[in-house]
Parts: sequence; structure tokens; C-alpha cells
Amino acid sequence: MIPVAAHIELNMAALRHNVLRVRDYAPESKIMAVIKANAYGHGLVRIAQNLSAAVDAFAVARLDEAIRLRESGIQGRILVLQGFTQADEIEALLHYQLDGVVHSEQQVQLLESVALSGALSVFLKIDTGMNRLGIRPEQCSALVLRLQKCRFVHQAIVFMTHFANADDLQDIKTTQQLAVFNEVTRIHVGEKCVANSAAIIAWPESRLDWVRPGLMLYGVSPMLVGSAEQLDLLPVMSLYARIIAIKHVKKGATVGYGASWIADKDTCLGVISIGYGDGYPRHAQPGTPVLIANKRVPLIGRVSMDMLTVDLSDCSDVQLGEQVLLWGDGLPVEEIAACAGTIPYTLLCGITPRVQIVIKASLSEA
Ligand SMILES: *Cc1c(COP(=O)(O)O)cnc(C)c1O
Repeated sequence: MIPVAAHIELNMAALRHNVLRVRDYAPESKIMAVIKANAYGHGLVRIAQNLSAAVDAFAVARLDEAIRLRESGIQGRILVLQGFTQADEIEALLHYQLDGVVHSEQQVQLLESVALSGALSVFLKIDTGMNRLGIRPEQCSALVLRLQKCRFVHQAIVFMTHFANADDLQDIKTTQQLAVFNEVTRIHVGEKCVANSAAIIAWPESRLDWVRPGLMLYGVSPMLVGSAEQLDLLPVMSLYARIIAIKHVKKGATVGYGASWIADKDTCLGVISIGYGDGYPRHAQPGTPVLIANKRVPLIGRVSMDMLTVDLSDCSDVQLGEQVLLWGDGLPVEEIAACAGTIPYTLLCGITPRVQIVIKASLSEA
């Protein structure tokens, strides 16, 4: 078999383990698994199929993502986080039996003004301080009343909000947001759904009727402080490539585009078959680690589209064709993200279609 140049290995046993970790944190809550953006780069339908027996609902950002799930045979509740802006989108939500987020007064107006073929299940989103989607807290009571009068709205309204800074244990904003949410929803009957991964881990008071984990399902720490390993989360995605050239350069030689890296001694280089065309971050700084035979080896020079270069001076026994881990099991994506000045979310979602996918079903498989 010809070895694949760049591939991700997806560990479905790790995924199941991470769902159990969500259950440990929030045993009383129903789990809505967030699988937007191609399940954070892991494959929308694949992840939904692997999770459907273990969770109570799915959330995606957009209608087309939800329709794709339905057309692939995914049953059960699916929430469209961005809701709708026009009547035909509401009809599509109904047709595919999807739940929609109502986050603005305009949407309530639309629901009041259209004749629909059924009653829509809605999550009413309150903006408690994120200032992205959501109605203002002081609008809540009036809009709930209006929704209750809508013929085409299912009457089990779920209340939700979203935290801006739940990853930061030191920031009181989460407590403030939760207090606003509790205050405005106190007088209403209905389930409540607020906690993202960081809140599930760090803010126990926010684990209400529903939790909405995303990142932690994929085995990545959502916290500013605290690694996935400390949280007993296992990475689902591992990104691999191979060494396709080994060469020696003299002191003073430059490496890569821009000739930005200069050898300060005679150096042994390894060229690795992966680059930003695969989703490896171009802004990864020199020194960013890759793992070769369980040894950390530093990136040098600029990442190019299809390749990157590492300094092999300290590992003379490396073979041509040897497998290299860019992130995943043994090298946290959180660390690579920090080296590239970004967050793990962008690296996971940024894997491009040319990267091949290998599925691993059990934890122990080599
Ligand atoms: C993306 C998202 C989540 C999940 O966030 P994580 O940090 O990945 O757990 C939850 N709720 C909403 C509204 C989101 O947009």
C-alpha cells in the first residue's frame, strides 16, 4: 500500500470517551453535541453517526448543515444555531423537523406574520453580554408572550444564552452573564441551555437542563489554563505526514521562502509532506514542535503550501519515509495553535479536503 502523504486519523473511541466525560461533568443535563463547521473539521455526518446513540441532540450553525444531516439519515433533535431570516427557511426547518434559534424581534415578527405548515420548535436566545446573537434581556418577557400567541410556534420554548469568556476562570463576566440569564428566565416555564465546553468544565452552576459541548468532544481543552490531559480528554484527530527528504546544509545557509531562517551551524534538515495547503498553519513559528518517533523536533523556516522543514540535527537515526505527527495523540493541538498565534478551533476546522482520513475505531489499535 502506498503510504498517504498527509492524513488525519480520527479516533472514534476517543470521541466516545469524551462524551462520557461530558456526562461526568453534567450527569443531570441533556447533551446537545455541537457539530458545526464539519464537526470542527472531523466530518459532519461521520461524527453525527458516531454520536447519535450517545447524545440527546445536535447543534449546527446553519440550515444547510442540518439538512445535510437529515438527508444522511440522522434522526433526533437538531438545532440550527443561526435560526432563520425568511419564511422559506422556516418552512425548511419544519419540513426537515429542525429546531431553530430565535434571537431577534424581527424573527418573532416573521413568525407572527406568516402562515406555516406546522409549529416550529424554538430556542429563544438571550444576549446576556456576548453582543452577538440574542434578544436584549429586557425584551424577553414581551417576546415570550408574543411567541406564546403564535399559532406556528411549538409551546415548549427552550431558553438559551452564550458565554463570551467561560474559558477564563478569573473572569467574573460568566457569573454576571449567568445571573442576567437566571433573572430574566426565572418567571418563565421552559428548559434552559447555556453551557459550552468551558462552562461545562469550569462553571458548574451553568450546567442546566441542556449542555452544548463542542471542542471538548473532540478531546481538546477549551480552558485558558488546564490541558486536555489534565481534564482527561482524548484527542480525536491526529494529523500525520511523512519525511520526504533529508539533507545537510552548511552554517549560514537559509531555509525556505523569504530565506528567513539561517543555519547557525551545520544542520541536518528534514522536509515533511505537509503545508498550509493541508491546513497546517502558515504562521507556525520556528521552533513549533513536530513529533518524530516520539521525539519533539523543531520547525524551521516558513511553512509552504505542501511542505515544511524541521531541524533533524538532534535525531540522526530518522529514516526517509518516517511518519511525523503534527498534532493530536502525543502533541496537543492547543500547543501548536499557541505557536501559530491562533486557537485550536481554527486548526481543527482548517483541515483541507486533500488530507486523507483514516478511521480508528478503538483506543488500543496501533
Ligand atoms: C460553537 C458553540 C458552542 C460550542 O462551543 P465550544 O467552545 O466548542 O464548546 C456552544 N454554543 C454555541 C451557541 C456555539 O456557537
